[in-house]
Amino acid sequence: MLFQASPADPYCGATLRPGDAGYDAARRALAWNQRLPDRFPAAITLANDVHDVVRAVRTARAEGLRVTVRSGGHSWAANHVRDGGLVIDVSRLRDLRLDVRGRLAMAGPGCAGHALDAALRPHGLFFPAGHCRGVCIGGYLLQGGFGWHGRTLGLACESVAGLDVVTADGSLVHASERENADLYWAARGAGPGFFGVVVRFHLRLHARPRVIGAAYRSYPADALPEVFRFLYGVGPHVSPKVELQAMMSRRVRGVRGPGVEIMAPVFADSLGDARAALEFLDAAPRSRQGVRSPFVPLPLTWMYREVMRHYPSRHRYAVDNMWMSADVEAVLPHLHALVEALPPAPSHALWLNWAPPQRTTDMAFSLEDAHYLALYGVWEHARDDARYASWAEVHMRAMAHLATGIQLADENLGRRPAPFVAPHHLDRLDAIRAARDPQQLFHTWMGRP
Ligand SMILES: Cc1cc2nc3c(=O)[nH]c(=O)nc-3n(C[C@H](O)[C@H](O)[C@H](O)COP(=O)(O)OP(=O)(O)OC[C@H]3O[C@@H](n4cnc5c(N)ncnc54)[C@H](O)[C@@H]3O)c2cc1C
Repeated sequence: MLFQASPADPYCGATLRPGDAGYDAARRALAWNQRLPDRFPAAITLANDVHDVVRAVRTARAEGLRVTVRSGGHSWAANHVRDGGLVIDVSRLRDLRLDVRGRLAMAGPGCAGHALDAALRPHGLFFPAGHCRGVCIGGYLLQGGFGWHGRTLGLACESVAGLDVVTADGSLVHASERENADLYWAARGAGPGFFGVVVRFHLRLHARPRVIGAAYRSYPADALPEVFRFLYGVGPHVSPKVELQAMMSRRVRGVRGPGVEIMAPVFADSLGDARAALEFLDAAPRSRQGVRSPFVPLPLTWMYREVMRHYPSRHRYAVDNMWMSADVEAVLPHLHALVEALPPAPSHALWLNWAPPQRTTDMAFSLEDAHYLALYGVWEHARDDARYASWAEVHMRAMAHLATGIQLADENLGRRPAPFVAPHHLDRLDAIRAARDPQQLFHTWMGRP
């Protein structure tokens, strides 16, 4: 099956520079976060195919421009929007080919996770795509990929069998376990510090779980201690079929004022299997409960809609995050403080029971922990920047002593550098970069020289 990208825009294939018609709109469109930084690339190439990408890399070399890449533009920090240099926008490379029998897909980096899921659904196939509509596989897979059913299927990048990459010398190469294995290793975890342009991913697909759904509970904020003591207690024992999480915000169903929602999406083989995986919720606190919903089977399209209530488009975001395995009693005072200071909804704090397995995949990705906490400040108007932009970062700084590192998915490295891979993996990434990109054509992570 073949889906072709449709190049409908007038500047498709063009390289735009400041002053050119289309430059301002192209720059504005580089980031989904409306809080576009005040940084101005020297040029933006709107690539329509692999040849445009190769040409753009060669142009950058010839003109001495450093390169960044944009797929879906969902980097909260707009990592690829730097001063000077060339942005190669590969969002139009969103072709998708399926080999249903071989359970393989070849997809362009501009293919959105939800679009991939829609194409796989009729064939009973599945890929652990991101939880939000619009997130594209380009940036998502490079940083690891925490997707639906990911506690069972692994990080999404563990389902990448190979990649086609335009390297710093302008050649197009295939990277896999057998060819260009250094690039293959680096591309699974380097995230916004990758030193090449991925123009196609070769993905391993999985059987679609027969039953998908979720259970839900809500509580007022003063129940935080009971709720989190419960979550920390059950966390290590929760089946990998369940993505147990808690969301704190000022808009919680069945609760007046700020509160916390326990959400438990499940991916199982049968209804019985799903209900059994959720039995632990019987022990959830009952007093002061707002809404209590048992397991309900739901289509993934519904789950996407539900998640997107918290991530509206055309809004301004300031995001930060941390991995941790600290004791609940050490974490609770900080949760109280950040909930007390919460900006209006849909701003929220997301706590995830990740409890990772012992991973055997040898790849750059190497930093995760029992629990994940991410803070998302969300607001609509630029006039509110000064009120809400610091909430996420201030509270993550206050909790930094509890952190083991950060996830690149929600990185804020330009403002708050923190570890994102194991130290020896960072050394190896630097060594591969030095060999593959000796002239430092590609920008590295923000916050690093
Ligand atoms: C609303 C929302 C929901 C999200 N939900 C999830 C989630 O459920 N799970 C999760 O893991 N993450 C999630 N994220 C984080 C998201 O996965 C990362 O921001 C990811 O980088 C987005 O990919 P992108 O292609 O859309 O973004 P981009 O901004 O285009 O890419 C991010 C960076 O990756 C690099 N890059 C992108 N494409 C290429 C390429 N083809 N070749 C080389 N380098 C490239 C660039 O450095 C770029 O700055 C979410 C983000 C948002 C905004």
